[in-house]
This record gives sequence, structure tokens and C-alpha cells, in this order.
Amino acid sequence: SPTIGVLALQGNVREHVAALTAAGATALPVRRPSELDAVDGIVLPGGESTTMSKLLDVFELLDPLRVRLRAGLPAYGSCAGMILLADEILDGRPDQHQLGGLDVVVRRNAFGRQVDSFETDLEFDGLPGGPVHAVFIRAPWVEKTGGDVEVLAAVPHVTSDGRAAGEAAGQAVAVRQGPVLATSFHPELTGDRRVHALFVDMVRAA
Ligand code: GLN
Repeated sequence: SPTIGVLALQGNVREHVAALTAAGATALPVRRPSELDAVDGIVLPGGESTTMSKLLDVFELLDPLRVRLRAGLPAYGSCAGMILLADEILDGRPDQHQLGGLDVVVRRNAFGRQVDSFETDLEFDGLPGGPVHAVFIRAPWVEKTGGDVEVLAAVPHVTSDGRAAGEAAGQAVAVRQGPVLATSFHPELTGDRRVHALFVDMVRAA
């Protein structure tokens, strides 16, 4: 089984380790460069992207991660992880570092003007078994995608609890570019392992 690291500086590390394990991977927390060397793929969990960017610097993982990503390391970023992977962010802090590698423009805290945190079912392209229940927590959305980026899921016009999504409707919240996957939401919190299983398959294929 592939060995997949979970960046363990902040955020829902245990939940991602459990989800990856359930999806058939050997999952390891990654806190130092030597641990990064040992993985075939990496998950960047949610949390706070500004804090994570600082910790990446302090733990001397920023450059090693950039180098591995540039060399094609499969990566899955959830929420703050999506922000870190984006080539460009809007409403970021001027001093926050990007790992980059995903040709998208992501808006931080995008739902803030609409609803801070919410849940809805989403159609998710290529996942068998129907819609995914998505939990959004001060989430970003993807405002612009480069030519090689596939949009896998977007916010529906009416959320599954019957609310109009307003300006959030149609915004992209799951994207893939080759070996890089990102979601605005947190599948590690729902017990549905299909998004992690998709990523495990991507790591196997890489
Ligand atoms: N709002 C956070 C940020 O900007 C992301 C929130 C999350 O990861 N749940 O980093």
C-alpha cells in the first residue's frame, strides 16, 4: 500500500490519518524533512493557512515541500491546505507563504460574507455512490482555474437544507490538476472515505 504523509503542524491530523488508513494507505504524520522523504503522497489538512505557512517555515518544511511538489509528489489539500497549494490567493495576508503547484486563484474565507460555516450535499465528479456531504469551515473557494485544472465539485444553487446559496452558488470547491487534489471542505470529518480513496488511487497511479 502507498505511504501517505499528513502534514502534522496544525489541524485535523488524526482524522486524516484515520481516513487514509481506512482507504488502504499507510498513513504517517509529517513534521520534519526526513519524514517527508519517506512518503509517496502528502495531505495538507485544514487549519489556518497563515499559521501553517509560518510553521512550515519554522519546521524547515517549506522548501523541501515545494521541491517535492515540483517533482510531482501527489498532494491533497483540504481548506487551508487548498490555500497553501494555490498558485495565487485573494484576501491572503501579505506575508503568507504559498507552496503552489495548483494553477488556481483561491479566495480565502470566501464564504464569510455569505455564511461562515455550513454543510451541504454536493455532486462530485468521478466519485461513485452519489453526492458527498461537505462540511465548510471558514472555507475558501476557487475563483479561477488554469487550463489543466478540472473542477470536480461546485456549490449548488440551493444547499441541501433548503437555503439559497446566493453568490456562493456555482463556485468551485473541489479541483484536480494531475496528481494534485484540493477541496474547500473537510471530508475527514464525515466518515465518508471516498475523497480519501480517490487520493489513495491517485498516489497509486503516480
Ligand atoms: N480560513 C482558514 C484559512 O484561511 C481556513 C479554514 C479551514 O482550514 N478550516 O486558512
